[in-house]
Amino acid sequence: SWSSSDSVISTDFAGEPAEPESPYRVVLLGASGVGKTAFASIFAGAADSMDSDDCELCVEELCEKEIEVDGEPAIITLVDMWDEQTDNEWTQEQYMQTADAYLLLYSITDRASFLRASELRITLRRFCPARHTPIILVGNKCDLVRRREVLTSGKDPHTPVCLFLFEAQPFRCVSLCDLAEGCACAAVFDCKFIETSAAMQHNVWESFYGIVRQLRLRRDSREE
Ligand code: GDP
Repeated sequence: SWSSSDSVISTDFAGEPAEPESPYRVVLLGASGVGKTAFASIFAGAADSMDSDDCELCVEELCEKEIEVDGEPAIITLVDMWDEQTDNEWTQEQYMQTADAYLLLYSITDRASFLRASELRITLRRFCPARHTPIILVGNKCDLVRRREVLTSGKDPHTPVCLFLFEAQPFRCVSLCDLAEGCACAAVFDCKFIETSAAMQHNVWESFYGIVRQLRLRRDSREE
């Protein structure tokens, strides 16, 4: 479970709250229209009351903020600069080489955005092959139930390799592994997976918490 609500505040030996780690740079990736800006707005607190001043540094496409995950503070710098329509290849490579972690978004209502996510996953693997950079595959817009084009496996909704697609009308479900492209996808996604709805504010924070947890796992395994 990714819930952090039942966690206790961690303290250091003097009983003071623990110091946050240095900022983690988290980049939002994905096709146009999948909900990256909506994610960034939720992170920045745009949906909260206007007197929120806990966003330490927020410019248009970048927001740095301290959040608490499992009782421990963490600073995230969220980058929402990915623009497939205007960015050239060099700019895109910069985003892929300068992050500590990635949220790789697609829309469950847009099969093409899912295939785009699989391409981006391949590209990411090329740029950070051995660094075990945390990546979470995010299937956004899960509130749009009737427009769903990308399914998860009923058996294991947490395994992206088991994603199913609607092939065509009349809504016949086809296992991805029966399709050539599906086999490619199954091999591609080797990362955590979550479905979200930015519109309903469902699981969006969970995806940020998940990124921090993965970054900490990596940090702790390095310290051992
Ligand atoms: P971006 O191009 O990836 O930054 O996508 P946007 O955040 O601009 O979202 C594109 C459109 O999808 C906007 O009209 C959003 O309001 C809408 N949208 C984003 N997330 C959701 C969601 O979870 N559910 C629904 N129904 N609409 C969403």
